[in-house]
Amino acid sequence: MTTFIPKRPRLSKSRFLSGRQCHKRLYFEAYTPELAAETDGQRQAMLDMGKQIGDTAQQCFPGGQLVTEGYRQSAAALERTATFMTNPDIPAIFEAAFQYEGTLIRVDILERSGEQTWRLIEVKASSRVKAVHYHDLAIQTHVLQGAGIVISHVCLMHINRHYVFQGGDIDLRQLFVVEDLTEEVFPRLSGIPDQLEQMRAVLTQEVPPVVKPDGHCHTPYECPFWEHCTKEKSERWIYHLPGTKEVVRRMMKQGIELIDDIPSRVRLSTLQQRVKDNVEWLSPELEQTLKSVHYPIHHLDFETFMPAIPLYSQTHPYQPVPTQWSNHIEREDGTLQHETYLCTDHRDPREELAVALLSSLGQDGSICVYSDYEKYVLTALAEVLPSLRTELLQLTHRLWDLLSVIQSHYYHPGFAGSFSIKSVLPTLVPSLSYSDLEIRDGATASAMYHQMVFKETDWVERQRIASALHEYCARDTLGMVELRRVLAEKVQHRGPSTS
Ligand code: SF4
Repeated sequence: MTTFIPKRPRLSKSRFLSGRQCHKRLYFEAYTPELAAETDGQRQAMLDMGKQIGDTAQQCFPGGQLVTEGYRQSAAALERTATFMTNPDIPAIFEAAFQYEGTLIRVDILERSGEQTWRLIEVKASSRVKAVHYHDLAIQTHVLQGAGIVISHVCLMHINRHYVFQGGDIDLRQLFVVEDLTEEVFPRLSGIPDQLEQMRAVLTQEVPPVVKPDGHCHTPYECPFWEHCTKEKSERWIYHLPGTKEVVRRMMKQGIELIDDIPSRVRLSTLQQRVKDNVEWLSPELEQTLKSVHYPIHHLDFETFMPAIPLYSQTHPYQPVPTQWSNHIEREDGTLQHETYLCTDHRDPREELAVALLSSLGQDGSICVYSDYEKYVLTALAEVLPSLRTELLQLTHRLWDLLSVIQSHYYHPGFAGSFSIKSVLPTLVPSLSYSDLEIRDGATASAMYHQMVFKETDWVERQRIASALHEYCARDTLGMVELRRVLAEKVQHRGPSTS
């Protein structure tokens, strides 16, 4: 009788990087990927952007050839790569495939640097070199050298944040920076065989390794198995304590699992203490602070779009460009009016958006915002629109930040230590949670905007996206109206002030 031995999953660059973060993650990815959280809008937007940057980077290497075989066609991809390498007329290979001792990699760009030597180039959408990139390049170099390829240079090609687009065609040589990291990567090569050996050993186990979730689950990447690994944890798990994680680490070392079990002698920040106390709190000054607004009260929120590859003249990569605003105007008699702007075509929206905004905000009243981001956007608009500069800067003097008001004067256990409007609004105004919306976060709104304006050709679909964007932006501004109302009610109904 023969015993069935399951085929061991192959290692790859991404599994190597996952394994460096956590052996349990590597195990899950290899055997139970279905336990991972679904790719959300934000993650999908990052993946799409990475693909766009990768495709654009290839244009910097004229004559380069793409290995078109996908990740599931590794034998064909290896064969195609070998064929391209023997052809001296091909100066660069994109998505070249190599395998060494069971580890498979695809190289973004492999460029000829001599008759028998090659330059390895990894393309990243980031605007600087990060620690994880050295390991990314080290595993690729290890496999390439093992496969007999002579690597003369190891480089990272990333976005140049200082490039200012002048309109017309993108200047690819300025858009990207190629950094030679050979000296940083080569010394790391000696440690790779041991790391791979340990990972292979993990993959031979019958069960996943025991690894407790903590800070390592979020760096260098958010682990998609977080929800699975923490599903048994209490809402009062010590890891949910906000602020510096130093206290959390100390408590975890002492075996303290719940926030409620933190000894009273442990010094906590004000917010950490509120989370530990876990009771509603109103400051004595809340009432006066809420009354410091002036009618008509505007409630303003911007949505911005940050293309990695600039689309508008005089912008740089990742520059936030406002594309949309919502303003709920509350008058002294209690009436509410909603005004909104959304650019729906590919023009630079900034001037039109600013003119409409100045008209909507007028000369009077407070402008309620949630965070200082609106101040940043107004100031940036003033810089690029000299004719509107004075009026735009005057708006910043009318801003009234509800976030800082709540942070300083109110706490509710439902916040669980977070003052994000995504936590605060559903807690205090459950009917305005974000769960009924198609767009629920800024990153998804930005990705949907890009799709509506630059990709979508079907006008029905464009209308649908525009409507989802309007609903999302309006939710934040209506939410601010309701948050002020709920807080005012709480002040009215409370007993004597407590501090
Ligand atoms: S959530 Fe943390 S412990 Fe669980 S697999 Fe991911 S990195 Fe490992």
